[in-house]
Amino acid sequence: MIDQANPGTETGTNTAATEEDRRPINLPCPDCTHLRVSRHTAWLAGEHTKATDYTVLLRSHWRSVHRA
Ligand SMILES: [Zn+2]
Repeated sequence: MIDQANPGTETGTNTAATEEDRRPINLPCPDCTHLRVSRHTAWLAGEHTKATDYTVLLRSHWRSVHRA
């Protein structure tokens, strides 16, 4: 009897793995594009705080939409 499926052993990877480390789902995603462009625009405009906010939004969005 082979027990490959082992529910309840989700490893706690709560630290900063890059988005690219995970296999993305639901891509291409217009929300990602929007957030990245907005972040880039804010950064170029010198609004670094705003750019950081977009980074947080992007990460939160990834967790809710694209986590595998
Ligand atoms: Zn997305």
